[in-house]
Amino acid sequence: MKYATAPFKEPDPSKKKRKGDLWCPFCGEWRQFKANPYGSKSCPVCNISTMDYWVKTVNGLWEISLKPRGG
Ligand SMILES: [Zn+2]
Repeated sequence: MKYATAPFKEPDPSKKKRKGDLWCPFCGEWRQFKANPYGSKSCPVCNISTMDYWVKTVNGLWEISLKPRGG
């Protein structure tokens, strides 16, 4: 995947990811996202939620399949 023009930090494989962590592209850290009142989850540090486009993209959270059918 390419994030060259994306306005966020890419997942850093050298940083420790615990089970259940999501990559916060704005903190540039793995975070335990916390449930928020909106039915999604938020980074406890910067409050970006899993509804955010980049959070979804970088963590593969899109529920609709964007992959082409077949193949
Ligand atoms: Zn964050």
